[in-house]
Amino acid sequence: MISSPLLCADTIYVCDTLFELPVYWAESRIPDSILADISELAPLPPKYSVHGGRIYLLRPARDAFLEIAKAAEAAGLEFVIESGYRSIEKQEEIWCTLLGIGVPFESIIKGTAPPGYSEHHTGRAVDFYPTTGDFVGTREYWWLKRNAGKYGWRQSYTTGEGVRKEPWHWYFEDIKEIITISDSI
Ligand SMILES: [Zn+2]
Repeated sequence: MISSPLLCADTIYVCDTLFELPVYWAESRIPDSILADISELAPLPPKYSVHGGRIYLLRPARDAFLEIAKAAEAAGLEFVIESGYRSIEKQEEIWCTLLGIGVPFESIIKGTAPPGYSEHHTGRAVDFYPTTGDFVGTREYWWLKRNAGKYGWRQSYTTGEGVRKEPWHWYFEDIKEIITISDSI
């Protein structure tokens, strides 16, 4: 990785190796103050889990998810979630596994947030299924685009800069969008 003298790049130490992060991750480290308190995590009902396993979110995010899920169901849609809370340790494990099977850093960083940099550490982020560009082709995605902001949810990575375009990844910010006149008609 080539460093620019003008940018102070972040580094991570994972699997006994130090890596310099690309600039699009710089300053995206999740502050300790918003890391999830695991005693505040609550499970989603299994029917929303793609594999039927337990998915946890911070209680307010879980409640807010159930609220949008109910509204979407009323519109004939069905949300399926692939991932919720993930610890920094779990993210390290994922990285170590990928590095261990020979996936190069440059490829991992394109699809997987570095440990300490994932909004999933906050317990406020969900990945809707499928976690591919195909999610844009679902009615659920377009419903979220139109409605999720009213419930305090936002799509985090929309710019397409580097890898950071993830239509499936939504974050509960708990700030309700002001409903404009055009939204209400
Ligand atoms: Zn995600």
